[in-house]
Amino acid sequence: MIDLRSDTVTRPTAAMLEAMFRAPVGDDVYEEDPTVRDLEQECARRFGMEAGLFCPSGTMTNQIAIKGHTEPLSEVICEQTSHIYLWEVGGIAFHSGASVALLAGDRGRVTAQQVAAAIRSENVHYPTTRLISLENTHNRGGGSCYDWATLEEIAALAKRQGIPLHLDGARIFNALVATGQRSEDYGQLFDTISICLSKGLGTPVGSVLVGSAAFIHKCKRIRKVMGGGWRQAGYLAAAGLYALENHVARLADDHRRAKQLAEALAEAPYVDFVLPAETNLVIFRLKDGLTEDQFLAHLAKNDIKASAFGPQMVRFVTHLDVDDAGIAQVLAALQTVAA
Ligand SMILES: *Cc1c(COP(=O)(O)O)cnc(C)c1O
Repeated sequence: MIDLRSDTVTRPTAAMLEAMFRAPVGDDVYEEDPTVRDLEQECARRFGMEAGLFCPSGTMTNQIAIKGHTEPLSEVICEQTSHIYLWEVGGIAFHSGASVALLAGDRGRVTAQQVAAAIRSENVHYPTTRLISLENTHNRGGGSCYDWATLEEIAALAKRQGIPLHLDGARIFNALVATGQRSEDYGQLFDTISICLSKGLGTPVGSVLVGSAAFIHKCKRIRKVMGGGWRQAGYLAAAGLYALENHVARLADDHRRAKQLAEALAEAPYVDFVLPAETNLVIFRLKDGLTEDQFLAHLAKNDIKASAFGPQMVRFVTHLDVDDAGIAQVLAALQTVAA
């Protein structure tokens, strides 16, 4: 079975499991797990930050950061299809009692001008703008990447206005590999970054929030109240350390394979359009007459899984567990769609 639904479906490799078995562990609520500490420090170091906080999911790291930055009656500026707004169960309202100012981005990417226009002026009727949040790569935007100049402009604006800047970096390593940007430089622009280890990096579980030591200290209490204090989490942190060493550079293979799929789809007579495949996500629209359910049923008959992504829309995701032979199988199946 070739599973293109998400890069979260990967299984740990034998070498990753080996690293997990060997991990020294302790009780992380007592701050006695050396492997968790190593992972948090390594993530912070790589992104030019002071401290890190290991959590079970990217939803948790995002929502903890939002809670830490905001207060009730305040507002978060984000893109209208951002994960923090669309796919985290309305957690901004639930956890933080905060409002959202939604921007319409270009494949999920917003400009400094758009952000500037959404910052609230002082007025008793308005919530107070307390956070700007970006997503890179942008999931709903088809794995699109921000260029560095735009990030710098938005960060400069945020600093001038004294508004914290958060990055949902669930797929930040895909962005780094695709653009050649340096992870250390991100710490100069962002106050907090959420990094997923269980997406392209292929670990079974885990995300890390990085930021200043004082902010991460505050976030530790928020994680605890969400029930996210954990014990011998070092077994999972070891998978993250292994992935940072061994699974970052290979993301270029996923990107190459995504481009192959995108090129074949662009040629297919039953495809309306394909979003540019900059990283490991390929989002495309089927022409009217072939529904996404019919298309997915055809793939299923060929032992391929993919995700419906709205009316006529489908998403393919390349990852660690799909090799060139798997891509060849998908390309063959794309040739035999009856449209
Ligand atoms: C997957 C994802 C997350 C976090 O998801 P979890 O399943 O909670 O780990 C956050 N942001 C983006 C853009 C994602 O794609």
